Amino acid sequence: MAEEAKETMNQNTFYSDAKEYWKKIPATVDGMLGGYGSISSNDIIGSQKFLKFFLHAPWAQRMQNRKALDCGAGIGRVSKHLLLPIFQSVDLLEQEKSFLDEAKTYLGDTADRVGKYIHKGLQDFTPSSAEYDLIWCQWVLGHLSDDHLVSFLKRCKEGLMDGGLICIKENIAKDGVIFDDQDSSFTRSYNEMQKIFKLADVTVVKEYTQRNFPLELYTVKMIALR
Ligand code: SAH
Repeated sequence: MAEEAKETMNQNTFYSDAKEYWKKIPATVDGMLGGYGSISSNDIIGSQKFLKFFLHAPWAQRMQNRKALDCGAGIGRVSKHLLLPIFQSVDLLEQEKSFLDEAKTYLGDTADRVGKYIHKGLQDFTPSSAEYDLIWCQWVLGHLSDDHLVSFLKRCKEGLMDGGLICIKENIAKDGVIFDDQDSSFTRSYNEMQKIFKLADVTVVKEYTQRNFPLELYTVKMIALR
């Protein structure tokens, strides 16, 4: 990790500071998106296009639509609009209890097809072997240290069924790593991400830059791994 980011973070309180931050955030779409609730529909459209590629891909790359995991699910925005319309069953993994509680209401009828609400940090979660067709991680991986991110991706890879994918959708820094002391998270450059993928022994299958987001935001990339 870039030295300056390491210096500005506090290793001892990195996880507890993030917990404290999210505890104070309202359980709403606007809360999930840092006040940018208005980008939600463009976000979902971009993600749908990205996933469609794999659902209609030639046999060797085709992903099936049995079961997905939404990592850092919040109130279930991604589950409701992206994953539940495609997958037969979706599990939500989230560390803030009030968000998971709200998800049960926010998901409405589609909550019927939620398998499990998993109240845990990503750093403490291990999927069963070959459990998921898709593991979706959006705007959450910056909350993991490099070491925890590498081991999380390794465990996710073991958790994929044949043809399964890990998809990440994250802010991307121009270079190095930037630490945000407000929510206690890192924004990594694509180059830094690639170092982590290598250590985790996951391969980039496809990568795409989200379009139609406000210019003042970070570049957002979708990256499919297996
Ligand atoms: N992915 C959702 C929510 C993004 S907000 C969406 O796109 O709408 C980031 C979410 O990550 C919050 O719900 C926060 O509580 C959760 N989070 C932060 N650190 C986490 C961790 N270590 N493990 C699991 N969830 C975490």
